[in-house]
Amino acid sequence: MSTHAEEDGLHLIKQETSNSEERRFRALIEHSSDVIMLNNAKGIVTYVSSSITSNLGYMPAEFIGQVFLDFVHPDDVPILQDIAHELQWNGDKSLSTEYRLRRKDGAWRWFEGTGTNLLHDPDVNAFVGNFRAITVRKAAEERLHLLNAVSILLVSSLDHEITLQQIAQLLVPAQADYCRIALVDDHQQVKEITVNHVDPEKNALVQALYEQYKDRSSSTHGLQKLLTTGQPELISIVSQDVLETTRDNPTLFALVGTLSLRSYMGVPLIARGKTIGAMTFSSIQPHRHYTNDDLLFAQEVARRIALALDNVHLYKEAQNAIRLRDEFIATASHELRTPITSLKMYTQVLQKRFARQGDESMNRSLMKMDAQIGKLTLLIEDLLDVSKLELGKVAFRQEAFNLNEVIAEIVEHVQSISTRHTIHIEGKSTLPLWGDKERIGQVLTNLLINAIKYSPHADTVLVHIVQEQAMVIVKVQDFGIGIAKEHQQQIFERFYRVNDPEEKTYPGLGIGLHIAYEIIMRHGGTMYVESEKGKGSSFCFTLPYTSDKTEIA
Ligand code: ADP
Repeated sequence: MSTHAEEDGLHLIKQETSNSEERRFRALIEHSSDVIMLNNAKGIVTYVSSSITSNLGYMPAEFIGQVFLDFVHPDDVPILQDIAHELQWNGDKSLSTEYRLRRKDGAWRWFEGTGTNLLHDPDVNAFVGNFRAITVRKAAEERLHLLNAVSILLVSSLDHEITLQQIAQLLVPAQADYCRIALVDDHQQVKEITVNHVDPEKNALVQALYEQYKDRSSSTHGLQKLLTTGQPELISIVSQDVLETTRDNPTLFALVGTLSLRSYMGVPLIARGKTIGAMTFSSIQPHRHYTNDDLLFAQEVARRIALALDNVHLYKEAQNAIRLRDEFIATASHELRTPITSLKMYTQVLQKRFARQGDESMNRSLMKMDAQIGKLTLLIEDLLDVSKLELGKVAFRQEAFNLNEVIAEIVEHVQSISTRHTIHIEGKSTLPLWGDKERIGQVLTNLLINAIKYSPHADTVLVHIVQEQAMVIVKVQDFGIGIAKEHQQQIFERFYRVNDPEEKTYPGLGIGLHIAYEIIMRHGGTMYVESEKGKGSSFCFTLPYTSDKTEIA
């Protein structure tokens, strides 16, 4: 049994405990960096912790009694309304989301907040909310998002002027209230690419400002300085001192005032060590002052732009060089054809004359000369073909032909000029093909000459003809040096040759396979190689059968 005195003592201890507990909780709430608040059923703030001041700039008394949603960014109100609705119907549940709140100075800041419905608890009878600033994370997310968007724009077109204008539109107003991008052309002239003010009516003012700045050799800030120094520039707060530097030019001074610049940063566009342009970011908002993080972001944007511009430049240069090369090849091979034709004619005339005179030795020399002229003619024809194929100027004859006959004829011809190798034909096509038999013969000649050329230690070359339902496959197989995997796709490209230091060098231009490939493609077929280094290669091409399936006699 406890006495009265003991009961009184216990009561006192309990009261003291609850008082100290309350003090502890109060201290916890008041010193938390999170903002803690209570809202009544109508959404009016009935309590807010003192950290509201460091987060939003209001004193608690200014916030209490206000409708909480009035501080929320209009775009984020619907989501908070949905959450309040959900909480009302779902008891003790807590729900979180991200939203923007207006600071006392008018700027919007991102917060992450959680709400719990404790209206049904008679001791609390309120919505309990807490929110914490996530400005830094949000800004980083936004920059990442913008960088991705910039990269996508940069690869979307080769017209860099349009791309840069789109990038400026992306950056305003997210990162700047006005933004300018200028490039230096090949004659070192500064070319304005885009000027973008958040209020388009002010574009002219910004333009006028830059005009005034343009010829100022004394410019301590701005584009000219970026272009000459190649160094980024950050003026976090545009102070009166900075403005004073323009006072010597009243027009400029007035323009700077009208545009009410608050913060500025500029970055050069540098490609391979050369400053090829610059971009500037300007803020007119009282609460947006650029920081080092912003400058790093601007530099990354500039780096990506410069890289993309440089790639476009290199691409155009390469295209131009290719065009000049093709023009040269076309002209040179055309010009070479006439003298070679006369040379061949005179050689034959001389051959006949010496044959009549019975001069065997002279005749043999002239035959060798004729064979060399033949090789030269083939080379020139190949060069001409390459340029003509590239320009789509090769006309193909359209006629039905017998593939077996073409193969037999070409094999006989190549066999006649090869002493070491024997060429065997296996299989045949029972159906005619449609197309240009001279050109198909040219493909086969090329493959057979390669098979012999690249198998100097073998003595056999096989030509397989495999008939399938809708097409025929012709396979030229050799047992020579083979081709390593990494070259197998590229050997059909123009001028591609395998350069293997372990192999001896074979003469050639690297165009025969390209011509063959193009001819087969234009006949609706395909061409590929199966090969293993050191074991030999099989060059295959397919040709489709026409609908007319008349059997070949
Ligand atoms: P070229 O023989 O004049 O160099 P091609 O276009 O005919 O040009 O061939 C391109 C390259 O493909 C050759 O340089 C060679 O490296 C490789 N190649 C072609 N045919 C064969 C083959 N049968 N065996 C091995 N390598 C070959």
